[in-house]
Amino acid sequence: MCRPPGPRLSLRELHPVRLGAVRVTAEGAPRQLSLLPEQARPALRILDQRERGTRFIRLSVRSVLNSPATTGMGFWSVNPYVGCEFGCTYCYARDTHRYTIERMGERRPGPAWLDFERRILVKTEVAEVLAKTLDPSRLGDASLVIGTATDPYQPVERRFRLTRAVLELLLQYRGLSIGLITKSPLVTRDIAVLQALSARHEVSVNISLATMDARLARRLELRSPVPSARIRALRRLIEGGVHAGLLVAPIVPGITDDRAGLSRLMGAAKEAGARYVVGSALRLGPAARHRFLPVLAEEFPELAERYRQHYGRSESASPAYQVALKRRLHRLQQAHGFPADEGMRRRQQLEGRRPRGASAEGQESLL
Ligand code: SF4
Repeated sequence: MCRPPGPRLSLRELHPVRLGAVRVTAEGAPRQLSLLPEQARPALRILDQRERGTRFIRLSVRSVLNSPATTGMGFWSVNPYVGCEFGCTYCYARDTHRYTIERMGERRPGPAWLDFERRILVKTEVAEVLAKTLDPSRLGDASLVIGTATDPYQPVERRFRLTRAVLELLLQYRGLSIGLITKSPLVTRDIAVLQALSARHEVSVNISLATMDARLARRLELRSPVPSARIRALRRLIEGGVHAGLLVAPIVPGITDDRAGLSRLMGAAKEAGARYVVGSALRLGPAARHRFLPVLAEEFPELAERYRQHYGRSESASPAYQVALKRRLHRLQQAHGFPADEGMRRRQQLEGRRPRGASAEGQESLL
């Protein structure tokens, strides 16, 4: 084959409009160049939109099951949506949304952190694709967790009912370990399905809540359900015979990690009948950092410099912090009558790794 004479163009030298037509692989390497002008590319199908500008866009998928090897977590996962209207400032799933948008070859109208809340990708065929690709024997002993990278019961689930469709599909199988993570009381809509699932599988619903202080929660989470609504949802699940507990995540260093606040949270969970309480410290990936650090500087300026220094070097809290936090949680679990071992097992299952390092215990502030 002959190559045309003249210098080869690098991607940077291409016209920006044409660059928009480049398909990019997960590794960021160009896979193909479209010979068509950009406007010939099929338009994204907008399924719905809100007055404040949020759009819901159909995402066509061929696989929906994420393996532990792909995510680096100790479990399999399914996420019916990419992006989340709740808009928690610390949310690490912003990075997943950014990667997905980049893989689609789409340009962002604004910053990645805002796009995550404003352009929600909807896997309309998630249940159908899962039905074709799920082989229970491949899962082994690992759990299948729904809602690891976005909330499966965010408000638009009322309309699309995709999480419910996934749960109904799983009724066709037996003997799996199924986890669900959500901040939304909407999960109680599906209590009957969760009850039926519990007769066939080991099911755990994790209600995610970081503080009982509604004002503090609103400073960190723009549109999430108030803490009392989440505790009520927890109670309804328990009363409905569904195994459920509290996921205190993320625990935000210096903001929601104080002993009194965590104790109040565990007390409320106990009173609601929670079977367990587990927790883990804040992680900040690149897109999440861009969102969270400016909010921190505005809302908690006294912490800004320490956060900038630590999370500028690492996505995770320090090993010493994680060990001290684990110890604090363990003592509070014991004080409130929660099974510490089960809690830690489930937390490690959710995190897919163990905290390392060592630290002195007993300090009032962990940061
Ligand atoms: S509810 Fe979960 S997925 Fe949604 S923004 Fe908050 S942390 Fe992220």
